Amino acid sequence: MKHPFIVIVDDDEHVLRAIQRDMRNNYREEYRISAAESATEALELVKELKLKNETVALFISDQRMPEMEGIEFLSEAKALYPDAKMVLLTAYSDIEAAIRAINDVKLDYYLLKPWNPPEEKLYPVVNDLLEEWQALYRPDHEGIRIIGFQWSPKSHRLKEFLSGNLIPFLWMDVESNADTEQYLKSANVARENLPLVLLKDGTWMADPSFPDLAARLGLQRTATHETYDVLIIGAGPAGLAASVYGSCEGLKTLLIEKNNPGGQASSSSRIENYLGFPSGLSGADFTRRAIAQTRRFGTEILTPKEVKNLRLQDGYKIVEMTDGSEIFAKTIVIATGVEYRKLDIPGLDQFTGAGVYYGSASVEAHACRNEVVYIVGGGNSACQAAMHICKFAKEVNILIRRESIRNTAASYLAQNISATPNINVLAQTEIVSVEGGSALEKVTLRNSATGEQKTVSVKALFIYIGAKPGTAWLERLVVKDAKGFIVTGSALMREPSFRSLWKLEREPFMPETSVPGIFASGDVRSGALTGISSAVGEGSMAIRFVRKYLEEQ
Ligand SMILES: Cc1cc2nc3c(=O)[nH]c(=O)nc-3n(C[C@H](O)[C@H](O)[C@H](O)COP(=O)(O)OP(=O)(O)OC[C@H]3O[C@@H](n4cnc5c(N)ncnc54)[C@H](O)[C@@H]3O)c2cc1C
Repeated sequence: MKHPFIVIVDDDEHVLRAIQRDMRNNYREEYRISAAESATEALELVKELKLKNETVALFISDQRMPEMEGIEFLSEAKALYPDAKMVLLTAYSDIEAAIRAINDVKLDYYLLKPWNPPEEKLYPVVNDLLEEWQALYRPDHEGIRIIGFQWSPKSHRLKEFLSGNLIPFLWMDVESNADTEQYLKSANVARENLPLVLLKDGTWMADPSFPDLAARLGLQRTATHETYDVLIIGAGPAGLAASVYGSCEGLKTLLIEKNNPGGQASSSSRIENYLGFPSGLSGADFTRRAIAQTRRFGTEILTPKEVKNLRLQDGYKIVEMTDGSEIFAKTIVIATGVEYRKLDIPGLDQFTGAGVYYGSASVEAHACRNEVVYIVGGGNSACQAAMHICKFAKEVNILIRRESIRNTAASYLAQNISATPNINVLAQTEIVSVEGGSALEKVTLRNSATGEQKTVSVKALFIYIGAKPGTAWLERLVVKDAKGFIVTGSALMREPSFRSLWKLEREPFMPETSVPGIFASGDVRSGALTGISSAVGEGSMAIRFVRKYLEEQ
């Protein structure tokens, strides 16, 4: 395989030579490093690389250059290589411009000159950016390919499964990609048996079940120990954070996830409010980093594996899985978050995955290129999805029951929405019926203020109308509130059943449920402040109390 390029531009010959030398010293084994002394020369080089179908992973540009400022160069280079990482080399006096560029050209990092020693100031930054780039980079002839129908629920679920488990794949639509016929012929697979998964080793699986596919892809499905110090249910931000802290503190830690690690956060196209990431990070990137971190400390992750019940026996907590297996643990952290509410419209269900999507903006946005798309809901998730899909779709229409999104979405999102020409907010509007064949084709909208109805053609409908707690599986072992969220800590003491349930001298710890040693963290906890940072905080904190509980035993 040809190595990707790193392109460096600086008009100061000495600086250029120094950074070129430092970059070559560390990256020449895996990247080709090209340098230019001016922005125009660099742009010529970039155009030539594009024509030759070469890949660029990273641009590093000086800000102050006579012909063109670094920010302008980076924005032109980004038009040709939108996925490449962008670093601006700045003097201290140019920091303002660099911070502006984070928004204007989606700058990934600004590096202050001088960067000595490179081991401390240059390589960690570049390593991080290149790792992130590599995670999303899909080389032409490597990795898994999926062949299927674009508007098929089976294909959609498969894409969601692979992307959620951070497994890169190349999607090939059987109806628009002529190459697919050769693969179907070689594998002797008929169109009705799609989707077809072609694995790296040249073997294939037609319409595989997720457990079978997970086994072939090497995802862990059975626990290596019989008993764990802490077993965490749900690998969203809360569960992932708990697992990092658990294994980091030397506890034997198991994390179980029924779908994809990352939870709701993995479907976020851009998280802009997570501390330490000024230019934002995608949900996929957040998840990838968290999984790498927790595995590094020794956490075992079982996925896809669904917990169906919890019971107590001889001081142990026993977790029962839907596949019939059981695992013992001394403590449990329930971090099962929330699930999307379904939109209740007759006939809508049959199109789920075939034009109707719950929180799948990042997986299906590319399929909406030049199409008209509708989004139901006016909260942060809906607005974030709109901002992502509008980069591909011709027109995005947000349907809300209220008069505006001002009170339902964060103000930065509301501002971005109103400043984006191909996004419309259709106020006081709801869907009354849907039509289609094998996929969704039309929806009928009703304006509740005027009573007017109209039927419109639609390629995709994304639904973000709130959520219900992921506790339906958890029968009556722990106390839940009226909506099904798990009650913990001092709030438990206000429950009428508290006295009869709680037998310890001490009061329940802040994240502890009505059963000592079973904790709840993140969105699933009654009264939790939702959001990624809160979930991460709660997951980390739960482990402090897990430790205290274990010390008591
Ligand atoms: C599209 C979108 C965008 C968002 N963007 C932002 C943002 O930019 N900033 C922000 O702060 N917040 C954002 N949020 C909210 C944020 O993602 C959530 O508050 C956060 O993910 C909650 O984390 P959690 O770990 O508590 O639960 P979740 O993320 O809901 O994770 C729960 C996990 O538990 C698993 N699970 C459930 N039941 C079982 C079971 N029985 N067995 C095994 N596993 C199970 C689920 O599959 C899931 O993976 C966004 C939400 C959405 C939907």
